[in-house]
Amino acid sequence: MDRRLFIRLSGASMAVGLPQTARAQTPSMGPDGAPIPIAPALPQTSGDPIFDAWAADFKSRAIAGGWSPELLTRELAGLTPDPRVLGLDRRQPELSKPMGDYIRGVVADDRIAMGQARRSSLSFLPMMEERFGVPGQVLVAIWGVETGFGAVMGQYDVIRSMATLAAQGRRRAWAEAQLFAALRMISTGEATRERLRGSWAGALGQTQFLPETYVNTALDFDGDGRRDIWGSTADALASAANLLVKGGWKPGQPWAREVLLPPGFDFGLSEGPNQSAKIWSGLGVRPADGWGWALADQGLAASLILPAGAKGPAFLIFANHMAIRSYNNAMAYALSVGLLADRIAGSAPLVTPWPVEVPLSSADRFGAQIALAQLGYDVGEADGVIGLRTRKALRSWQRSVGVPADGYLTLEGVQALMASALMLPS
Ligand code: CA
Repeated sequence: MDRRLFIRLSGASMAVGLPQTARAQTPSMGPDGAPIPIAPALPQTSGDPIFDAWAADFKSRAIAGGWSPELLTRELAGLTPDPRVLGLDRRQPELSKPMGDYIRGVVADDRIAMGQARRSSLSFLPMMEERFGVPGQVLVAIWGVETGFGAVMGQYDVIRSMATLAAQGRRRAWAEAQLFAALRMISTGEATRERLRGSWAGALGQTQFLPETYVNTALDFDGDGRRDIWGSTADALASAANLLVKGGWKPGQPWAREVLLPPGFDFGLSEGPNQSAKIWSGLGVRPADGWGWALADQGLAASLILPAGAKGPAFLIFANHMAIRSYNNAMAYALSVGLLADRIAGSAPLVTPWPVEVPLSSADRFGAQIALAQLGYDVGEADGVIGLRTRKALRSWQRSVGVPADGYLTLEGVQALMASALMLPS
């Protein structure tokens, strides 16, 4: 079937809302007072046997677990897998965006200015800072990164998206947990099906909470008795603060500090020891802004990261960096939120600018991993993802050839690796 037609048809069946069985079972009278014969219930098939088998199994497991059959019948009626969600889930970017390009895109002047305006206009923010110990600029930065300050919350039907991912199987347990949470939100009356629209991956409301996170973590901050992360910015930001607190946010502590490294510094210490700022200080690492360490910060444990390698900015990251990652467990995410928050609060731009880089293709990333493996370094299975294990292997190789062991893959590094692997005796 034409893909567009498929979307249109399934959209139409969603728009009707009432389950077909419910309509079929409601007797009604014709103009002459005689009952209209009840039409046989239309079969509840999506046209996709794998999806239908999953849906039937999910429904029977849910009923066995005590869920209301009426709720399940109503919310699953007419459901079809969403091909857009499957496409987005399978998407493998051909080019990986260099960290600097990503951060520059997020920490942009217009977003900083908008964040500053929002921060000063939200009257509840000081009260929220006091209650949770999370600085308002961090909450405003999350709000800005997640939905452009509440502007773009997403239009995907979360039940359909999660059913699609659950049926597809790769992330079934996760997607079903979101589904159950979404059903709970409907059954408690906290959200209508119409409200349960969000990103293709199930994130909802102004601060993009997954249904399960909503159920466990969302808060009513404005005091109207409802946890409304869609219509109430106060509820949405307080819920985000609560998530950070649950993720280990430490009040009064920094999330990261840009640092400068002394000449001859061992870049192999990046992503290495988690030790006090005082010990880093002893190694010649100093805050890039020229200000020393606050006495209170000297004893805090920090790790060194070089997100764009030895040529880019260096940071010491503290426990609060990891708290931000309870939102989204990616270094790029935590850096973009933290750096945007700092700029919203009036910090100067980074002292060391992000280097301009050539994006690596997936062939580059696979090629580097295969070359590392051929040269005897452990990269696990070559998967085109430059993760911790690959970066560790890269550092060992960099040390062996006498270049800064920053564990960062550049195009020059890819070319040097592939050339070395070619030189190996066959
Ligand atoms: Ca509320």
